[in-house]
Amino acid sequence: MGTIRHTVSIGQSFFISHPSYSHRLLGPACCYTGVASAPRPPPSPCGAMATNGAAGGPSTPATGSSLAAGGGGSGGAAGAVSYPPPSATSSELPAFELPPNVRLHPPTAQIRALMTIIRSAETSRADWIFSADRVIRLIVEFALNFLPVSPVTVTTPVDGAVHEGVAFSGKILGVSVVRAGEAMEPALRSCCRSCRIGKILIQRDEATAAPTLFFAKLPDDVASRHVLLLDPMLATGGSARMAIQALLDAGVPQSKIVFVSVLAARQGLAAVCAAYPDVSVVTAAVDAGLNAKKFIVPGVGDFGDRYFGTD
Ligand code: URA
Repeated sequence: MGTIRHTVSIGQSFFISHPSYSHRLLGPACCYTGVASAPRPPPSPCGAMATNGAAGGPSTPATGSSLAAGGGGSGGAAGAVSYPPPSATSSELPAFELPPNVRLHPPTAQIRALMTIIRSAETSRADWIFSADRVIRLIVEFALNFLPVSPVTVTTPVDGAVHEGVAFSGKILGVSVVRAGEAMEPALRSCCRSCRIGKILIQRDEATAAPTLFFAKLPDDVASRHVLLLDPMLATGGSARMAIQALLDAGVPQSKIVFVSVLAARQGLAAVCAAYPDVSVVTAAVDAGLNAKKFIVPGVGDFGDRYFGTD
């Protein structure tokens, strides 16, 4: 399978017409497009996007190779200190090659503008939830492209013409990682009406950040399904790895798991992809680091708190 590599520079968007591209080389310049000089996001067709000043830089991905190796195996222990510092400019960040199993949503104007809104600390709760829901919908739709389809022929209403198309094949299961992952359930249900939804509850020790699996509720036939594992924030990768392992323990092969996130830290991405190279990891953006509390930097803050209003 051929590999497509793209180096992205400041302010430059790129679009890939087929979702099966596997990885990209992200150069230093792509970390953050300029705040003042970046092209303004287009107005939302729905209007709400314009209600926020969108002061932050659009969220083209930022990653770093030095931690890709070091953070690969240790999950929660990786990147304990904020690195690089939040004030680092794009030119100070090293290039990073995305692992081949990462499926990065193309940084369309819509994704970049919506991510800018949810990154801003100034965004009102109503705008934040609205924009987060839109990003989630886009990323869930994108993730569905990594599920199998089979050839199908249909007859159109026009003169009995025949169209050779595809149909989704296989059964889908959504599994949300409580609590933030539950915010992604409605989007999945909107796309797959009768979709079953399992739950996994993992909690991190506040002092050590070590994750513990408390609860997993999955259907009996989970092993025969394609699983969309829903968790918007992939930070250290500790919880993600534990959730993936719970699915593997239930008999789901790696190749049938798609981890669906909104934002990933490079350390977490590297850790998950190294541990589970056949799991597809979908995300809208990749950020440069984690702070001492294991929050993604620049990040969006606490996704669950901002979404559910518990901050
Ligand atoms: N979970 C969040 O909600 N935010 C982060 O930055 C990391 C984990």
